[in-house]
Amino acid sequence: MMRYSALSLLKQGMTGHRSWPQAWRKASPKPAYDAVIIGGGGHGLATAYYLAKHHGMTRIAVLEKGWIGGGNTGRNTTVCRSNYFYPESVALYDLALRLYEGLSRELNYNVMLSQRGMLIAAHTPAQMEICNRIANAMQLNGVDGKLMTAREAAAKVPLADTGPDARYRLMGGIWQGRAGTARHDAVAWGYARAASALGVDIIENCEVTDIETKGGAVRRIETSLGPIQTDRIGIAAAGATPGLMAHVGVQLPIHDYALQAFVSEPVKPCLDTVLLYLGTGTYVSQSDKGELVFGGGLDRVPTHGQRGNLPVQEAITAGLLEMFPAFGQLKLLRQWAGVVDVVPDSSPLIGPAGPEGLYINCGWGTGGFKAIPAGGWLLAHLLATGQHHEISRPFDLDRFTTGRLIDEAAGSGIAH
Ligand code: FAD
Repeated sequence: MMRYSALSLLKQGMTGHRSWPQAWRKASPKPAYDAVIIGGGGHGLATAYYLAKHHGMTRIAVLEKGWIGGGNTGRNTTVCRSNYFYPESVALYDLALRLYEGLSRELNYNVMLSQRGMLIAAHTPAQMEICNRIANAMQLNGVDGKLMTAREAAAKVPLADTGPDARYRLMGGIWQGRAGTARHDAVAWGYARAASALGVDIIENCEVTDIETKGGAVRRIETSLGPIQTDRIGIAAAGATPGLMAHVGVQLPIHDYALQAFVSEPVKPCLDTVLLYLGTGTYVSQSDKGELVFGGGLDRVPTHGQRGNLPVQEAITAGLLEMFPAFGQLKLLRQWAGVVDVVPDSSPLIGPAGPEGLYINCGWGTGGFKAIPAGGWLLAHLLATGQHHEISRPFDLDRFTTGRLIDEAAGSGIAH
């Protein structure tokens, strides 16, 4: 790892960074690999890193049709947490949070994890009941989760409108102190740099157009840069996964929806937690630059278009102003949408699918950024051993035939 003094940094800046090393090699496809990962988002890059680091596989490639992190990994609102309801979900998302807690050191790259805590605020007895159940479930699963009274919750968000005239009065909520945010680009770039240093080929502008099988096993893929031989494929292509699986005749229970996000002009520090209102679904945090980053629920019309519709923008913004009327004075700087891959039980799909040698990691919907280290860890385990890790087993596609669904939307009633 190259080190820079202040003077050499200044010199680099003045000379256009001519001798600045590339963070990851710009690789071209080789004719064959031991394993190929389709999708250069966080999950695909983390998979490559853990395959190389923990399973000693280095003849591997990550194929990305655009630029790495250009999908949902670079479009999300960066919330990390593990306050889910079902034990299977808590195990999965808390593995991710624990890996996040050591990630900057592991990758030698600052992913800017900020464990500022998250408050899920309840406004009705029914919502308090949900919070109570989640807090109990988390504590039973050995994860930090705490039920808060109205007074405790209000103290966490002093600027919020919690007065007697507030439309959404705080009754209390659930608090997870280890939750927070991380820098999304840094997560993608950190995994890419570390994987590349271990010998992984990261190939951008390379679209996979077909998957070929022989004797019931994967043999070859077609890409926009030519064919590649491989007998192990991991697909981490989010909403594009059903289209890729159609090449091998497998239909996935995934629908794609637009999910929007918003960023205000920067202001001085005024919110040092992540706050979600169960009453409106709107959530908000303040970035290190001072911008308020906020979002809410899905646009409820299936789409592949990366833009959102106006009524949802209005509802989410109204939700923010219900929380903080003072934010009505702020200018909105940016708004965008990503296409998220939603499974009917709101839990991801991880495991073998279709022909031998093919594994999927998708269906993260509105909440897969927080899961990136675990998603990569588990897909790497599958690709290297051909077997499920005990944490990924419940998320196998077969739950749609056994009926053992993990209905997190019903269980915890929250997104992100
Ligand atoms: P992606 O990052 O989408 O990567 C998939 C990659 O596959 C893409 O780069 C794509 O170009 C590539 N690809 C597709 N087809 C092909 C092909 N044929 N060949 C080669 N490459 C291909 N999650 C949270 O945990 N917390 C949040 O606060 C949060 N907020 C969100 C806010 C918004 C507005 C959005 C849109 C999402 C949010 N999410 C959040 C969800 C989260 O962003 C995603 O679940 C996560 O990033 C998925 O990562 P991924 O690696 O699976 O997919």
